[in-house]
Amino acid sequence: MTPDAPSSIVVVGASLAGLRAAEELRRLGFTGTLTLVGAEPHLPYDRPPLSKDFLAGTTDADALGLRRQPYDELDLDLRLGVRATGLDPAARIVSTDAGDLPYDGLVVATGATARRLPDQPDLPGIHVLRTLDDATALRADLASASRVVVVGAGFIGAEAAATCRTRGLDVTVLEALPSPMVRGVGPLIGDTLAGLHRDRGVDLRTSVGVAGFEGTGRVERVRLADGSALDADVVLVGVGAVPVTDWLGDSGLTIDNGVVCDATLLAGPGVVAAGDVARWPNPAAGGDLVRLEHWTNASEQGVAAAARLLAADDAAVPFSSVPFVWSDQYDVKIQVVGHVSGDDTVEIVDGSLDERKFVAIFGRGDRLTGAVAFSRPRVLMQYRRLLVDGATFADALEFSKQ
Ligand SMILES: Cc1cc2nc3c(=O)[nH]c(=O)nc-3n(C[C@H](O)[C@H](O)[C@H](O)COP(=O)(O)OP(=O)(O)OC[C@H]3O[C@@H](n4cnc5c(N)ncnc54)[C@H](O)[C@@H]3O)c2cc1C
Repeated sequence: MTPDAPSSIVVVGASLAGLRAAEELRRLGFTGTLTLVGAEPHLPYDRPPLSKDFLAGTTDADALGLRRQPYDELDLDLRLGVRATGLDPAARIVSTDAGDLPYDGLVVATGATARRLPDQPDLPGIHVLRTLDDATALRADLASASRVVVVGAGFIGAEAAATCRTRGLDVTVLEALPSPMVRGVGPLIGDTLAGLHRDRGVDLRTSVGVAGFEGTGRVERVRLADGSALDADVVLVGVGAVPVTDWLGDSGLTIDNGVVCDATLLAGPGVVAAGDVARWPNPAAGGDLVRLEHWTNASEQGVAAAARLLAADDAAVPFSSVPFVWSDQYDVKIQVVGHVSGDDTVEIVDGSLDERKFVAIFGRGDRLTGAVAFSRPRVLMQYRRLLVDGATFADALEFSKQ
């Protein structure tokens, strides 16, 4: 630690990035006051099971804790159920709904929140899925439901649809685009994903818009843009997430689709950001400003942001990350590495789309941008290594022939 290292650090956001930052601060020898502020009343928990095992009813909330070791070891001033409401970086004060917190160093790890549809009514039976409380409410509602409508076929919508089908419910998925995740992975893989859901009995409707919801006392129908309507006992709106930056409005930090940081995750003097809320020039994306909403990134950035806060400016290192995200749908494990885009060139280099077991590589010009796999975890990792090593698209094609 440097001589002017902070003696009190506040971490705002008690989830994956915030907890990993707090753990790393202690591991690096920070002995000052460490305050972890979280708006939710729960100890930090894992979100990925919320759309999978927890929603299926095969895992309960007490199995979701992110930290296995005792919290005492971290010597935290833990403020759960407390919301940060403002930041004065000049005075170095975080204001909260339970009073002011002065700091020398601040980690912003407020993540993201579920996006809602414009004019989405507050009608019982219509859910979003981001928090444990959201998932608990949705799970309880599914227990007496038979018809579920999922709006949006992104990761969360598709996972929840798969879980609901596995529970034996009638599931309709409404997707505004021509195929699921088409912007991210393109039509070839999007259509493969569509086939997976349709084969399992999901009524997947693409290129459809939602016009509104109807019901007396609770949701009963979803009205579509073409004038038709679908009966529904439960509706899940899974149309993405937005970074939580509302409390930073007057802070002077640069807010633009997240908290904009430098390459080392520094967002302002004594302020770092990590996880779903952070946007930074990723060297592994050619220096483009990116914000990721993935578990592995939040965990790694939490660790890196902690180190940045304790480092001298001239010793700070850029945070570089080859993104990695997984999604479990039925018995298929989908994995994505790199910064892939729907308009990249796509080549299947292992397995086949028909079997729904394959690895596809993605490229832009001669750049290898990433790879997507269905149920091929070991082969995918070989392509992840190529990405980390800076291989070109041609190198990856060549590798696939060996
Ligand atoms: C249902 C679901 C399934 C997922 N599945 C996968 C998966 O399979 N694979 C994968 O790679 N990723 C998955 N993810 C994404 C992954 O969980 C996130 O990337 C990760 O949780 C991000 O961690 P974070 O700490 O940055 O933010 P978050 O987990 O969003 O945590 C931010 C925390 O900050 C708190 N907070 C917000 N504002 C304030 C405030 N003003 N004051 C105090 N506290 C505040 C919030 O309450 C929250 O607890 C999934 C996410 C969800 C919701």
